[in-house]
Amino acid sequence: MIVVTGASGKLGHHVVEALLENVPANEVAVAVRTVAKAADLATLGVEVRQLDYDKPESAATALAGADKVLLISSSEVGKRFPQHRTVVDAAKKAGVKLLAYTSLVNVGRARMTLAAEHLATEEYIRASGVPFVFLRNGWYIENYSENLAPALAHGALVGSAGHGRVSAATRSDYAAAAAAVLTGSGHERKVYELAGDTALTLSELASAIATASGKPIVYNDLPAPELARVLIGAGLPQSFADILADADLGLGRGELENGSGDLRRLIGRPTTTIVEVLAKHFGTEDAR
Ligand code: NDP
Repeated sequence: MIVVTGASGKLGHHVVEALLENVPANEVAVAVRTVAKAADLATLGVEVRQLDYDKPESAATALAGADKVLLISSSEVGKRFPQHRTVVDAAKKAGVKLLAYTSLVNVGRARMTLAAEHLATEEYIRASGVPFVFLRNGWYIENYSENLAPALAHGALVGSAGHGRVSAATRSDYAAAAAAVLTGSGHERKVYELAGDTALTLSELASAIATASGKPIVYNDLPAPELARVLIGAGLPQSFADILADADLGLGRGELENGSGDLRRLIGRPTTTIVEVLAKHFGTEDAR
């Protein structure tokens, strides 16, 4: 039995779909906070269990009988370490044989604020004695491709990353890697640095958006407090805007660039590129 937590989210949906390409649905369960959000997964035949990372009693039931667990990191930044600790403790009690955790690429050297909770979780998992594998996911391509409207409206992509490069990959590719690890063998105690094959500066990303959209787009590099103000103006809460601006500074320091090739090796093919995603988004695939 493979149990996937956080499966009501976007990455989790991709993971379940990828798992079902290789294992029967009765060997997969999802453990989600909001059961209604997993109704579509239930129709695929997987068991839906309730798991709120804030409620230890729900974790014990949700992981019962699990051989392998994928702990998809929580989206509640700032609360994540105690939430993840709850799942790790439950996995230990359930005698789980492999706990896979979606961490952050380069977490050992990254100084961006987002890294701290992931590093603390990795350390807690190592100390717990539960057999583990770390899936250190890089930035999602969708962080850019699903938020194109402001750049298209203003003819400018804004950021605070200078000339730093980001090796982004699609959620679907990260999910395929997670499914490969959960259905394969020999992954215990491995640490995978998962990242796209190509690394772009935000200036190159702006050019790629311009080419795919047919509109002029430049990259405007802003001081981080100014970027945070722009994000707040676009409707983000201050705390999250600050975290994203801080992550861009990390991007500028090279913290989201990684050339390990682990992702392409796990999925057995080159990773999907930003240029491919943008061409599909704008329907300009044939023009490339
Ligand atoms: P989503 O926001 O789509 O999904 C987040 C998931 O976390 C949801 O299933 C949500 O449940 C669940 N969750 C949040 N709080 C709790 C809780 N208290 N108990 C149980 N479940 C909870 O994110 P993605 O699927 O796109 O990404 C997965 C994770 O990757 C994120 O949660 C985040 O940690 C990280 N991330 C990585 C990024 C990157 O670029 N690498 C970018 C953004 C996030 P519910 O549906 O009930 O809200």
